[in-house]
Amino acid sequence: MELNVLILPGDGIGTEVTREAVRVLQHVARKFRHKLNLSEGLLGGIAIHKTGTPFPQATEKLATAADATLMGAVGLPEFDNAPPDKRPERGLLGIRKTLGVYANLRPVRAYRALIESSPLKNHLVEGTDMIIVRELTGGIYYGTPRGITGSGPEERGTNTMTYTRAEIERVTRMAFELARNRRKKVTSVDKSNVLETSQLWRKVVIEVAPAYPDVALDHLLVDNCAMQLILNPKRFDVVVMENMFGDILSDEGAVLAGSIGMLPSASIGDRKPSGAWVGLYEPVHGSAPDIAGQNKANPLGAIGSVAAMFEYSFKLLEEAAAVNQAVEAVLNSGRVTADLKPKSTPATTEQVGQAVCEAIG
Ligand code: NAD
Repeated sequence: MELNVLILPGDGIGTEVTREAVRVLQHVARKFRHKLNLSEGLLGGIAIHKTGTPFPQATEKLATAADATLMGAVGLPEFDNAPPDKRPERGLLGIRKTLGVYANLRPVRAYRALIESSPLKNHLVEGTDMIIVRELTGGIYYGTPRGITGSGPEERGTNTMTYTRAEIERVTRMAFELARNRRKKVTSVDKSNVLETSQLWRKVVIEVAPAYPDVALDHLLVDNCAMQLILNPKRFDVVVMENMFGDILSDEGAVLAGSIGMLPSASIGDRKPSGAWVGLYEPVHGSAPDIAGQNKANPLGAIGSVAAMFEYSFKLLEEAAAVNQAVEAVLNSGRVTADLKPKSTPATTEQVGQAVCEAIG
């Protein structure tokens, strides 16, 4: 298969973890005989330095041409007080908008080797393996009217939670498609006992479900879901929800896995004419200025994002499994970075990348 991938290392540890993710991407492409065409672009603080803008037109062009984009992280402390359009983080919004990605996927896996770093009791978290699918472009973060009006006791803040049938349908279909390649179970999360948007959400999900007779569907109210993620995380396979619920619950899911450096993410849009799904893949963490340039950042979240790219953009499930199994093998071997508190000397970012390639074979 021909894989056209854009690499956007970004700032801080983004460049370090992306280097290792690319090492793994190239290794897998060689092993499984895919033709890998890599391009590289500027995004974030480095793009401001070199071009004056966090999301240059040249990057936009490259992103539109690529099948999938692998990003590191953006953000530099020197821009903390800059105006919004001159901040590195603006680049992220720009690329998400250009690609039209509407679902954010966060796989949450409890690796056996990291079970002690989870805040939950071992027997609760062991075996957890879910994907949280968050709608990314609608809901209360974008609805109008919004704003603060009036003064004194009548001063009022307003936000509007709104969803169309089309927005709900496309993200629901994505959840069902994902479940088909997993344990075939979708849990839809809403607050339909109170909110009309949630009533529409549930109605549309129920209407979409019969097209996927091989996938089981259940519904949870968002407050109950928050409890079940802690009480019984193993019950979940694919969990789909609107934007704000997903923002909150995906962070709750994230702590189950141990370290922030472990977590991959994928933002997906529609299918391209080539058949690939448009996708933006990045570790969940930021540019970590406190450890940047020291070769000690954990690259496993970025490497996990490569596995997600194989799975979601290219539907190369064997390649994705090879990367995920290698990550698990490296965790079990103890050759891990300092954030995972290894028993012996911590490995460097580069050594972890090399270890993953060795484990892939
Ligand atoms: P951060 O995720 O960069 O760091 C939080 C803490 O986790 C730090 O102590 C850091 O050392 C540690 N950490 C993060 N990733 C790690 C890894 N791979 N290995 C080991 N330790 C790791 O969050 P922050 O400090 O709040 O933000 C720093 C900058 O990153 C800011 O400019 C922020 O805006 C930006 N940011 C960018 C993204 C993104 O690009 N998607 C996401 C979050 C934050």
